[in-house]
Amino acid sequence: MIPTELERRKLSKLHPILQTKLSYVIIRANGKGLPARLFEGYRTYKRSDYLYSLGRTLPGIIVTNAKGGYSRHNFALAGDIVFFVNGRWTWDYRLPWDRLGAIGKEAGLTWGGDWKSNDRPHFQYTAGISRTLSRQLYKEGGLEAVWEVVTENYLEES
Ligand SMILES: [Zn+2]
Repeated sequence: MIPTELERRKLSKLHPILQTKLSYVIIRANGKGLPARLFEGYRTYKRSDYLYSLGRTLPGIIVTNAKGGYSRHNFALAGDIVFFVNGRWTWDYRLPWDRLGAIGKEAGLTWGGDWKSNDRPHFQYTAGISRTLSRQLYKEGGLEAVWEVVTENYLEES
């Protein structure tokens, strides 16, 4: 599948290393016949707070346990890859999420499907930086400060 304009825009807001890794996952998955696309990437604190309020202080169902600053999406270090079938997003549990997860791990990403909370569309790259440190760096210097440390760690690892 050719990336849509929207997908390219979402991708472009993420840390460059994550951009490369997520692109790999999508291309590889598509190559294996899995119709996966990037559903969501960067999320502001404000948007996370809003999503957190759904099913709690606002009507709806609970979609997340992460308030602003508690999700890697807030630091542009996470992306959700979802199946796109017949023009619609689908989170059907019968789809081969584990195959998607395996490709992500092959690319050096952490997969949310391995967590107790089981967030199967979720992939992240943190270079070993904790959420606490991410929040602190963000407070001091915004996304740029978080990204700088991620890149440094990445370069040390490779
Ligand atoms: Zn996610």
